[in-house]
Amino acid sequence: MAKTLNNSQERAHVPAARFSFTNKLSASNKTPRQINRNLIFNQIRTRQPISRADLARASGLQRSTVSLIVEELLAERWIVEGSMGRLPRGRRPTFLNVNSQRGVLALDIHPSQTTLAVTDLGGRIIAQCLIPLPEDPQKVIAAIVSAIQQIISANKERSFDGIGISLPGRLDRSADKSPNSKSRSDVPIFAPNVRWPIAHIKSRVEQATGLPVVADNVANACALSEVWFGDSDGMHDLVVVNVSEGLGTGIFANGRILRGEGGSAGEFGHVQMDPDGLPCGCGSRGCWETLAANPAGMRYYAELTNKPSPAFEDLLKLAEAADPAAMQAIDRMCAALGRGMHMISSALAPSEIVVVGDITTLWHIAGPLIESAMRNHPLASVPRLRPAQEGNKARLRSAVALVMHETLL
Ligand SMILES: [Zn+2]
Repeated sequence: MAKTLNNSQERAHVPAARFSFTNKLSASNKTPRQINRNLIFNQIRTRQPISRADLARASGLQRSTVSLIVEELLAERWIVEGSMGRLPRGRRPTFLNVNSQRGVLALDIHPSQTTLAVTDLGGRIIAQCLIPLPEDPQKVIAAIVSAIQQIISANKERSFDGIGISLPGRLDRSADKSPNSKSRSDVPIFAPNVRWPIAHIKSRVEQATGLPVVADNVANACALSEVWFGDSDGMHDLVVVNVSEGLGTGIFANGRILRGEGGSAGEFGHVQMDPDGLPCGCGSRGCWETLAANPAGMRYYAELTNKPSPAFEDLLKLAEAADPAAMQAIDRMCAALGRGMHMISSALAPSEIVVVGDITTLWHIAGPLIESAMRNHPLASVPRLRPAQEGNKARLRSAVALVMHETLL
């Protein structure tokens, strides 16, 4: 890595912005009532147990507004009065907590494995399991459904508000809202790295469990999650780059997820970066993901050493331990990631680019490499680059955000 690092240091550093845009002007697309509900709920989630008075101070909202929303949230059982039952009869209980009896089932689906987690309404993981997916494409959904049923019956004491699914592909979510959504459950989706009928997952899980299911592309879900759980509720423009088997982006622009026609916006991973590059799962060649996703890092290592690469997590451990070939492979991957982020910044001028994926576990090395490559050419507006808040739990938490966003608001 040292060699390449020197190269990048030798390149002239281009000054950041010669002019800057302010992106504080756009209003959020949530109604003021939704914004306040979201704010109050998140204050309770992060500060519980908390009194109404402290809630007013922490949120900056008027006490009357706080009281009104708190009564709503209590009536809907999102929150409970924590000291209930422990105080003498007749005395008004004071402290508020998120209702710990309610939960969400979160699924983080990868092409060949799935993580399931039971979480509370705040996204805290209570139980978790990982299942490998069967080789036979026709057996995959049945295996996922069976794992869901097992984890639900093992957590009977909890009532589930819904199932959130983060997908390695794009579903046409306009189909969810259409009156004849059943007939449209086969809507074409974009999932070039998946070899099983992923388009049916939502309806099959709904049928099997009777619970509401919210499914979305993992990068979209992570973008929503950063806003939902994060302190970036005032943030209107951010892009999540999910780096795993492939490369997906979730675009939060002007205060909402940018979906595009048929829900297929955000496929920066399939912008061609090298016309002579390797074939990509999408049918093209030399796409950004062929150069910058986890398999690219593994391929670089194999090319450098003439031996098969270990799994990506192990490649990261080798790089952490200063193995020269692993460091060089990660360096090449990060340079390619940064080049693509320059493209994203040029196109969308987000305030932040948030990276999700195993690469964030090596952020002290990867972050500066990616940032250096991103800034290597002029940009009108340089975004803040950071790893997702919850590191390797970000994808699971994003599935919780999907459900909370639909149900609480
Ligand atoms: Zn492609």
